[in-house]
Order: sequence, then structure tokens, then C-alpha cells
Amino acid sequence: MSGGDGRQAADSLARHLARRMLVDGPMTVAAFMGEALGHPRFGYYMGRDPFGAGGDFTTAPEISQMFGELVGLWCVDTWARLGGPSPFHLVELGPGRGTLMRDALRAAAVVPDFARAATVHLVETSPALRARQKETLGGLPREPLWHDRLDDVPEGPMLLIANEFFDALPIRQVQKTSHGWFERLIDVEPDSTEETPRFRFVLEAFGSSGARLVPGGLRGAPEGSVVEVSPASCAVARLIGERIATHPGAAILIDYGYAHGPAVGDTLQALRGHAYAPVLEAPGEADLTAHVDFASLAGAAREGGAEAFGPVDQGAWLTRLGIAQRAAMLKRNATPAQASGIDAALARLIGTDQMGTLFKALALASPGLGAPAGFESS
Ligand code: SAH
Repeated sequence: MSGGDGRQAADSLARHLARRMLVDGPMTVAAFMGEALGHPRFGYYMGRDPFGAGGDFTTAPEISQMFGELVGLWCVDTWARLGGPSPFHLVELGPGRGTLMRDALRAAAVVPDFARAATVHLVETSPALRARQKETLGGLPREPLWHDRLDDVPEGPMLLIANEFFDALPIRQVQKTSHGWFERLIDVEPDSTEETPRFRFVLEAFGSSGARLVPGGLRGAPEGSVVEVSPASCAVARLIGERIATHPGAAILIDYGYAHGPAVGDTLQALRGHAYAPVLEAPGEADLTAHVDFASLAGAAREGGAEAFGPVDQGAWLTRLGIAQRAAMLKRNATPAQASGIDAALARLIGTDQMGTLFKALALASPGLGAPAGFESS
């Protein structure tokens, strides 16, 4: 708060982005999203814990311990099917508060050889969340290792978990006009001030890169259509595919999105204080996500050499893994208040009107392994 006008203290990502647009011109949606979430100083995830009642949103592992436990048992089962490689890397992308990994490891302790063989790797860019993960996972026999990117995790046999990670990776958007496909960009509103810049969507001036991004099947979409692609997500899925094609391994990717994409539609959304907010309003202050295109992730992993299974609806997958039985077991030792809490969490995780069908699980596996648990008929 030094010096009169407080300008320094009030510096913001919006001003930083506006200055950058003055120099470089409009930004892609991907660049805007990348900065809004990951800017080292102002990025949404960088300095805060966004989860829970006091935060902006909540996630499946924060709703109930049952989620992480079942993911942990899925990992143990898949590891056994892979022949029990020892040692192996247990990797989580975007671990949030570390709750999922904590619950997974507790459940997996039923097979001590699994825990002995595992080295835990957490891929996390946010210093605030790394600190939180360290707290949650304190007391493990071996400290987890943190990395900025999956590329930095050493190669070898691997089981990988990602819950609500891909929806935070940058997307690009293209729009069909009467003159063809143009990439959607973000620019400063001409009548806004340097102090409080506002942003708007514009279309690139020459439709060259726009057309190149549109998947073949969607080129004939009607005028006005918006199509989203996520080269950043596909690059990660491809790398997972390459890793588990060369070493025994599997991955479980859980997120919200569409199974048969890429589809037409603008799904970029901002969440702030558990409510939707305008996406360009306060970069760095709101969570920005987009629907995950599971078909493209599966395609990229197959290109890398892996086999893909699903996606199946989260509700169906958790039910096949026995979430109802787990809930009944937890309720046996619960007070009436706790029991109704368990029922409410169960309904939230598997209910078709809640997370049960919007969220989906995609499994990737080394060639020849066959369908992992919960994917048998998919
Ligand atoms: N899996 C957790 C958190 C989901 S939120 C849960 O289910 O509760 C997204 C997580 O991904 C956060 O931990 C965020 O800091 C991290 N993240 C976002 N973008 C990332 C990136 N590009 N690289 C690594 N981590 C990222």
C-alpha cells in the first residue's frame, strides 16, 4: 500500500495482460487461459487453495473419502494385472489438496507390496497447493517427489491418476463465419482504461490458422459455430500413451466433458464463489475451465501406442467398483448425522442429476492388458 494512489498494490493480471496485448496484439484463448490459471504471480492456482465451502468449487475427492479409496483400489488391481512391477511410479497430475492421493494410499495399504513398490510423483505447478499437498501427505514412509510437468517424471512402469486436471488445460477456439473459420482471440476493449482494462472476443484478421485447427468432421458446421480444441491436453495424453507403451502401465483420467467429441459449442466457463462468472471479467480471480474432449484424449494416447477404454460415466464406474457397498460399510460405524452425510455424498458422486453422468472416466493401458476394472463392457 505504498505511495498515494496505491497503483503498485493494485497491479493485477488484467493490467499485465492488457499491456501485453498492446505490445503483441490479441491473445489466443489458450494463452489467456494459461496466464489466468498459471501466471507465476497472479495466476488463479498460484497463491490460493480454491477448494471447499470457502473457495470457488469442490471436487469429488473433497466430497467424500470413498472417491480416493476406490481410485486407490483400482490402482492396486491394475498394478496386479500388470504383473506387480516393482518399483513403479505412482503419478498424479494436478493433485489439488492431496486428498485423493492420501485416501488412495490408505485404501491401497491392504496390499503392502503395492505401497512398498510405489514412488509417489505429484505434477503440480502451484506453490500454494504444493505446500498443501505436503501437509496432507506428511507421514508417508517416503516423501513424494514434485514436478512441474509430466515430462520431468522419470520413465519406468507407471500408474497415473488425473482428476479434474485436463479441464484446466488451455483450449483454443475457432468460429465459423461467412468467410470461413477464424480463431477466436481476446483483446482489450477499446473504450476501457489502462487502470481497469476490460476484455472482449475478436476474430483473427486472416483465417489461416483457424481453418487448420478444425477437425475434418466439423468443417461443414453452420455459420456461427464455435469449435474447441486442446493441443496442450492432447500432448499430455500422447506422452502418457508413449510412456505406457514402452513400460508396463495404466492411467485413469476423470473429468467433466463429452464422450463423442470434438463437438460444436463454446464451453469455456469461469467459477467464482461456487457461481458462474463472465469468463473475461477478472482473469486470475476465477477458475477457468472447459469441457474435456475424451475422444481426442483417447486418440492422442492411441497415437502414443497405448490402448484406451471408455469413457464411462463416473456414476457407472464407481458403482461397478463397489461404491454402494463401501458406503454401507462406512455407515455401519456412523452416527445418524454422519450416515446422512455419506448418503448425500454418494448421491452427489453417482447421481445422474449431479456428477454421475457429466463426469466420465477414461482408462489408458499398456497394449494387451485388456479392460481395467469398471471398463469391462466399454
Ligand atoms: N485433482 C484435484 C484438483 C483439481 S484442480 C481434485 O480433484 O481435487 C486442478 C489441479 O491441477 C490443481 O492442483 C492445479 O494447481 C493443477 N494444475 C492446473 N494446471 C496445471 C498444469 N498446467 N500443470 C500442473 N498442474 C496444474
